[in-house]
Amino acid sequence: MNDKQYATEQAGDIDNAVPRRRKTRQAVVAWGERRVTVGGDAPVRVQSMTNTDTADIVGTAIQVKELAQAGSELVRLTVNTDEAAAAVPRIRDQLDRMGVDVPLVGDFHYNGHLLLTRHPQCAQALSKYRINPGNVGKGDKKDRQFAQMIEVAARWQRPVRIGVNWGSLDQELLASLMDANAARAQPRDAQQMMYEALIRSALESARRAEELGLPGEQILLSCKVSSVRDLVAVYRELSRRCDYALHLGLTEAGMGTRGTVASTAALSILLQEGIGDTIRVSLTPQPGEARTQEVVVALEILQALGLRSFTPSVTACPGCGRTTSSVFQELARDIDEHLRERMPNWRREYPGVESLRVAVMGCIVNGPGESRHADIGISLPGTGEQPAAPVFIDGEKRHTLRGEDIAVQFIALVDDYIRQRWGVRAEAHG
Ligand code: SF4
Repeated sequence: MNDKQYATEQAGDIDNAVPRRRKTRQAVVAWGERRVTVGGDAPVRVQSMTNTDTADIVGTAIQVKELAQAGSELVRLTVNTDEAAAAVPRIRDQLDRMGVDVPLVGDFHYNGHLLLTRHPQCAQALSKYRINPGNVGKGDKKDRQFAQMIEVAARWQRPVRIGVNWGSLDQELLASLMDANAARAQPRDAQQMMYEALIRSALESARRAEELGLPGEQILLSCKVSSVRDLVAVYRELSRRCDYALHLGLTEAGMGTRGTVASTAALSILLQEGIGDTIRVSLTPQPGEARTQEVVVALEILQALGLRSFTPSVTACPGCGRTTSSVFQELARDIDEHLRERMPNWRREYPGVESLRVAVMGCIVNGPGESRHADIGISLPGTGEQPAAPVFIDGEKRHTLRGEDIAVQFIALVDDYIRQRWGVRAEAHG
């Protein structure tokens, strides 16, 4: 066999790697007119969680607003005390007055059964509840207290996330699984049993919730762990065993680059396999860092995977020895900031603008090629090249920029492109 024959025989359709979303039941999380569908054919949703004291009504409402404006489609609050539960309806009122209709999710541990029954206005103001089966109660109290919460959810027709977390795994369930495993002729290893306990805790709680009258469509599941490989293993198996909508997240991911990379790695593997209907990136904020950073990372993950579009993308080369000046780094940064700043208005004025692709390239090697692939791209002159920057629009070279203010000229061309492409469409559809 010669090389040519070999290549021909191996040729075939190359998979385009578009994630095939796993079919799940669809939950609706609503507040007023706002309906956020999760699961089924809905886009993967972005969630976040406040870190204010929920009893601080103004501070919490402000942070919820910031998270919602950053792109969070659901915002979760800790509801841990009577003061927090009493604050929830007032936070909701405050948000409604500010025109923020993002649905709120209540996070309950230990005393959720008491708070939800003692504070019906809290139960009503929340659009969804998160219940951790490992923190519901022990012994015979567990079933009773879990039932109390599910009954409240069924009465108010609120979806529930049954959120298992390995840091608060149901120890009675784990112990009984370990005992049964020890009695087997060939016991499975401890890690396998931990996976099994997480999955079993979620599925048995879901089955119990359905028996108590909560429709399966109103049940979402999560099984959070803090290691990437554990998370992938658990969710692959969980998704194989049920069709509930799944909430993905790496718990206690950490701070900064480490937390961002770990969350991105874990979520990307699963999302690419079509697993996951809603995500949260649990970042520990660095001192002084905005809470909204976790939303920014979640949006970027979904956009990088091609699952959703939120902001125009800027392709920029990393630079190398051919770019000894910082001009192209500054231009890439300026463009990125310009697009992000304008997006809140552009989203209204130019529907569809979030799919814009801009390229900012450092030299002639890959500059023209990459710029042609973008909607609008600029190839800056590298070291030793003619001081001219060709601009490509829809794959064709349309302009050549020169002078000190190339950045200003290019940003004006980008604005013009957006106006022409999406402004016209908006008017045509107007
Ligand atoms: S496009 Fe040019 S400047 Fe950018 S990384 Fe490639 S060779 Fe370097």
